Amino acid sequence: MHHSPLIATIVAGLVVAFLMGALAHRLKVSPIAGYLLAGVIVGPFTPGFVADTGLANQLAEIGVILLMFGVGLHFSLRDLLSVRNIAIPGALVQIGVATLMGMGLAWFLGWGILAGFVFGLALSVASTVVLLRALQARNLVQTERGRIAVGWLIVEDLAMVLALVLLPAIANIVNGTTEGGGVSSLVAPLAGTFFKVAGFMVLMLLVGRRVIPAALHWVAHTGSRELFRLAVLAIALGVAFGAAFVFDVSFALGAFFAGMILGETPLSRRATEETLPLRDAFAVLFFVSVGMLFDPMVVIEQPLPLLATVAIILLGKSIAAYLIVRAFGHSGMKALTVAASLAQIGEFSFILAALGTQLGMLPAAGRDLILAGAIISIFANPFIFSLIVSRLEEAPVEDETPQPTEARGHVILIGYGRVGRLIAKELRGRGRPFIIIEDQMDMARQAEADGLDVLPGNALDPRTLEAAGIGEAGTLLLAIPEGFEAGAIFQHARDLNPHLRVIARAHSHAEVEHLERLGLPDIVLGEREIAVRMLSLAAENRRITPLRPAKG
Ligand code: AMP
Repeated sequence: MHHSPLIATIVAGLVVAFLMGALAHRLKVSPIAGYLLAGVIVGPFTPGFVADTGLANQLAEIGVILLMFGVGLHFSLRDLLSVRNIAIPGALVQIGVATLMGMGLAWFLGWGILAGFVFGLALSVASTVVLLRALQARNLVQTERGRIAVGWLIVEDLAMVLALVLLPAIANIVNGTTEGGGVSSLVAPLAGTFFKVAGFMVLMLLVGRRVIPAALHWVAHTGSRELFRLAVLAIALGVAFGAAFVFDVSFALGAFFAGMILGETPLSRRATEETLPLRDAFAVLFFVSVGMLFDPMVVIEQPLPLLATVAIILLGKSIAAYLIVRAFGHSGMKALTVAASLAQIGEFSFILAALGTQLGMLPAAGRDLILAGAIISIFANPFIFSLIVSRLEEAPVEDETPQPTEARGHVILIGYGRVGRLIAKELRGRGRPFIIIEDQMDMARQAEADGLDVLPGNALDPRTLEAAGIGEAGTLLLAIPEGFEAGAIFQHARDLNPHLRVIARAHSHAEVEHLERLGLPDIVLGEREIAVRMLSLAAENRRITPLRPAKG
């Protein structure tokens, strides 16, 4: 085992996490609790096998990258800007409030002001992974409250990037190691960071936005699934690493931007599919690595300070967030979701704690409190979340067992958007039995509200197709705008039922060609149909009423 610490860490992490996750499942608690416990088991503070903490942390970073990349894929610049009015002040005020509370506790414990500052700052930032897992598990990322929470997180992320650069400079001033500088020696690192972050964003928006989608588009046309998968991973990890290496921004931020740029292309959904399994595996390792940091002795040595720390994270931060969101005139439901998703601390807190102790700013006791506070809050978060976010609001995707349709030769309609709705209306009028597959929760809910038979889920997943009774279906209508994606669904569908009549929608000649090459004869090119209809209208012999200019 001494020769292969990386393998040992991955294997131990995944195997023990699997066992504990399965146990948690049996006991009907959040699997996250199981993964954290797995971390404690393979960690250095419990007897038996000890995994490599440093390696575990790096593996966890990959989980963070893939998660943030996935979020970026579903986020447009517009989404991000649409929540800026609340996310920026919200995150800043909340960081301020939490830092002050942390400083208060530190003062009470007799630490210096600087120690209190680092301590409070560490308590003020939420973990990306925990937040995203909570939102994803309930399909909330795309909702407005989800967007607010993610925007808030991005602001926190940026603030922490800044804090990590400024802390060493502050330490220098306090220790009097900078010559003549004083406060002005803060300006250089501040300006430097600002330029680097701005430089990264400009580069991504100007160059990345053209090059990356073009590259992926090319790869998609090679038709090799493997190469496509590889390309997506290379983009996610490559941009994140490059951003951290060249521009000193966090991995998470780099990955988010890479995802956001790809999110604007029609290939984004496929890109999401391809990274899912890896993302989940590494997110598990993130929780294991957190568990490994936990030293159970803290509970015995500093019970009251620990309690106060946990109270700040769980109560203080949430109340602050709740009030801020309410103050912006949002509903109690939204405020509660945002507050609940932020009531935890994670990876940034560890980094701050480590840097603080290294610089001699934070006492070791402070670091231990932060680590213990993190594990307890991460452990408690899923419970709080399900307590607060009412089950009614939850997406039924996971626990709803779809009933296979009995009708023989029924129609399966993929997509309930602009096109799917029109088709559904007509099919209903004709009394044809049909079932809709729709992967966006709000659209699926709309279909349900319209009284239709709908299966929430992605048609790219063969299991969804099976649940819709593809084996017995007569017709498959692919009413989604992405022709390449329609091609992938078509391939699954044909494997499951070779006698199926399939009709697809496309919006470009490249898509039509692609679908034809796959052997799909019936393709409706939206633009062509529009042109045909316009021409036929133009050819109609109608009496013309002269157009009059509008009055006024
Ligand atoms: P529109 O372009 O307005 O007709 O909308 C297309 C609809 O298809 C949207 O509501 C999408 O959520 C949905 N959709 C796209 N891809 C898939 C897929 N792979 N599985 C299920 N629904 C999809």
